[in-house]
Amino acid sequence: MNALESQLDYPFGDLLPPTGATVDIVPGLAWVRMPLPFALDHINLWLLDERGAGGEGWSLVDTGAGTDATRAAWESLFADALGGRPLLRVLATHCHPDHVGLSGWLCARFAAPFWTSAAEFAFMRMMAAALPGVDGPSAVPHFRRHGLVDEALLEQMGSRRNYYPSLVPSVPAAYTRLQDGQRVRIGATEWRAITGFGHSPEHVSLYSAEWKVLLAGDMVLPRISTNVSVFAVEPEGDPLRLYLDSLAKFADLPDDTLVLPAHGKPFRGLHVRIAQLRAHHAARLEEVRAACVVPRSAVDIVPLMFRRPLDAHQRSFAIGEALAHLHYLWHDGNLKRVTGADGILRFELF
Ligand SMILES: [Zn+2]
Repeated sequence: MNALESQLDYPFGDLLPPTGATVDIVPGLAWVRMPLPFALDHINLWLLDERGAGGEGWSLVDTGAGTDATRAAWESLFADALGGRPLLRVLATHCHPDHVGLSGWLCARFAAPFWTSAAEFAFMRMMAAALPGVDGPSAVPHFRRHGLVDEALLEQMGSRRNYYPSLVPSVPAAYTRLQDGQRVRIGATEWRAITGFGHSPEHVSLYSAEWKVLLAGDMVLPRISTNVSVFAVEPEGDPLRLYLDSLAKFADLPDDTLVLPAHGKPFRGLHVRIAQLRAHHAARLEEVRAACVVPRSAVDIVPLMFRRPLDAHQRSFAIGEALAHLHYLWHDGNLKRVTGADGILRFELF
């Protein structure tokens, strides 16, 4: 949790849309909140009114997870808050299951096109098919190599072959490509795509200069830091550097930009939040660097970075996150990587 949250301004206070209802952010942009079956218990979705702009329906940004609770909430939205008007287009910020879980279901229901970036589309197709490299069993040797010896947890990870498909039961078979810098008129205003990296392959945030509104997705969240992990599919990756570099792409947005994050409440204070995130990662990097006076695996690093109890799901994210910090220092030449006689990779100061 963000101890410096009081530095941010929440213009809607504690107002939250009830499940199955909307809250207007500005005329033509409505906020929807869907439940999630995780410790992170909700996601924000955004409806853009296309009325009077060539269409008599809505464009939707992100869909919620493919759960019965989300489908039920959508049914009540269709029956009531959406005024009987259809979805004309479904856009996704990125491939994670809470964002695209119902993309197949919603696009099929309304014969609506699906818009996202090429890498996000490719990854959601790979994960929905549980292809080797992105499925549960592929995570096991990855975590073992990075020091996990808890056989029960490894077994649990290995058996989660259908984790992604269980939350994303279907995906669209075709898409419309969004690219960095692309401008697209949706409803009453024009949006500019800003791609970001490190959290997912090619995350799309959308910015309206006219409204000074940023649909931030998971790139900038007010209360929690965005997960940045090294995964089995890209074992030498440097996602923390990609993520921090991506934050610079928001530097030219106005100070009073209204940030609409995928988790948490709408806020102002984009640049304050980005400075907090940079300070947070700089402090973590310094802790990790200091710990590596002796050889440390990613699993060794987890309790230094996360001082609260973690469930199995959070533990796997924590190991990926610890590894992202180790890799940042390793790619910078601050740490060397050594393979122990036990086959475990450890990092140590030069
Ligand atoms: Zn995400």
